[in-house]
Amino acid sequence: MKKIGIVGAGFTGAVLAYRLALEGYSVDVFDSRPHLAGNCYSKRDKETGVMVHVYGPHIFHTNDKHVWKFVNHFDEFMPFVNRVKAIVKGRVYTLPINLLTINQFFDKALAPSEAKTFLASMSDKSIDIPQNFEEQALKFIGRDLYEAFFLGYTAKQWGIHATKLRASILKRLPVRFNYDDNYYSSLYQGMPRNGYTYIVEKLLDHPSIKINLNECFEYGHAEGYSHVFYSGPIDKWFEYKDGRLGYRTLDFEASRYHGDYQGNAVINYCDVAVPWTRISEHKHFVPWESHERTLIFKEYSRFCGENDIPYYPIGLAKEKTLLKHYVDLARQERNVSFVGRLGTYRYLDMHITIREALDAANIFLMAQDKGHDIPVFFVDPLQ
Ligand SMILES: Cc1cc2nc3c(=O)[nH]c(=O)nc-3n(C[C@H](O)[C@H](O)[C@H](O)COP(=O)(O)OP(=O)(O)OC[C@H]3O[C@@H](n4cnc5c(N)ncnc54)[C@H](O)[C@@H]3O)c2cc1C
Repeated sequence: MKKIGIVGAGFTGAVLAYRLALEGYSVDVFDSRPHLAGNCYSKRDKETGVMVHVYGPHIFHTNDKHVWKFVNHFDEFMPFVNRVKAIVKGRVYTLPINLLTINQFFDKALAPSEAKTFLASMSDKSIDIPQNFEEQALKFIGRDLYEAFFLGYTAKQWGIHATKLRASILKRLPVRFNYDDNYYSSLYQGMPRNGYTYIVEKLLDHPSIKINLNECFEYGHAEGYSHVFYSGPIDKWFEYKDGRLGYRTLDFEASRYHGDYQGNAVINYCDVAVPWTRISEHKHFVPWESHERTLIFKEYSRFCGENDIPYYPIGLAKEKTLLKHYVDLARQERNVSFVGRLGTYRYLDMHITIREALDAANIFLMAQDKGHDIPVFFVDPLQ
């Protein structure tokens, strides 16, 4: 039986292990953390009984019918719609910016077509081709909405001024001219009844899968495996020999209360004077459960140091150059594939992660069948 090593027990590693074990491979899964599920790890808080997303709130949403069917095979997905609120200068608004936000913010009662005309009149006409995030926002929504909802929040989240961020971060007009406050516009959205860790446990529950927690997989461990799928940081594989790729990390400050703290799962704090970016109250992610006590997390963003957990890739020019360097090195490797959010240095939602892992498993199996080389990357990290 061919032996496969999988580094990382997040969704990437778990889906790959599941698919390959079903096809008769013997799979060793390694994770340096003491638990499964990577950044999607969820567990019940002992004091309140609330299911907590330990590395930040995770809402499952997708347009991919196959991925939706796949995850529903491992747990029941309960109805949940993410309706985010934002606090700006002591007032509460609804996000994403929609007709209610515009009407509340400007104290008006505009109909959709009136709001479109009104917003167009706010647009900064001097900007022809936006050169950065700020210019893009000023062109789309004008200064008032930009300063209220984006300027402070972006500075806190990325630690740099919006003029230093790429215009493409704000790809489309971030406004809805109706009262739809569903944060995602995906066809399918929900929360697993038993949490994400439960799904990963079920994915890995196979006699041919051996799980090794608290084990950091190093370069030299690849011997003994016919192939290794590596979902750890690409720069770490090369022992950071030419520098570290930049990430933002998060700190979570937990507090427990009786009753209901904020009446909603997620509230963003847009003012730069408030040090946290958002507060999440996790019992509102499971509206079918009932808890007397509650648990909230204030979320703070900062630059990721050597011993911190990498969350969001920064992806500015400096990182892009370094990434290209590591991708070139990786392409010279044999018998290892770089996968997942860290292996390819990209932000990936869970449904994309799962889709890419399913596709990678299929490509791998086909290549094995035909005696072809296994790709080092199944997607292009430089795109
Ligand atoms: C704050 C935040 C909120 C998010 N919210 C959402 C959301 O609402 N909806 C959504 O769809 N997605 C969300 N995501 C994205 C989601 O977390 C990712 O899609 C998912 O974690 C990617 O899975 P992965 O397996 O690629 O990576 P990870 O989950 O990071 O798993 C990689 C694993 O590899 C392990 N590892 C690394 N190096 C080694 C090594 N050398 N040896 C052994 N183990 C190693 C790590 O410990 C880790 O457990 C969010 C992400 C963040 C940061």
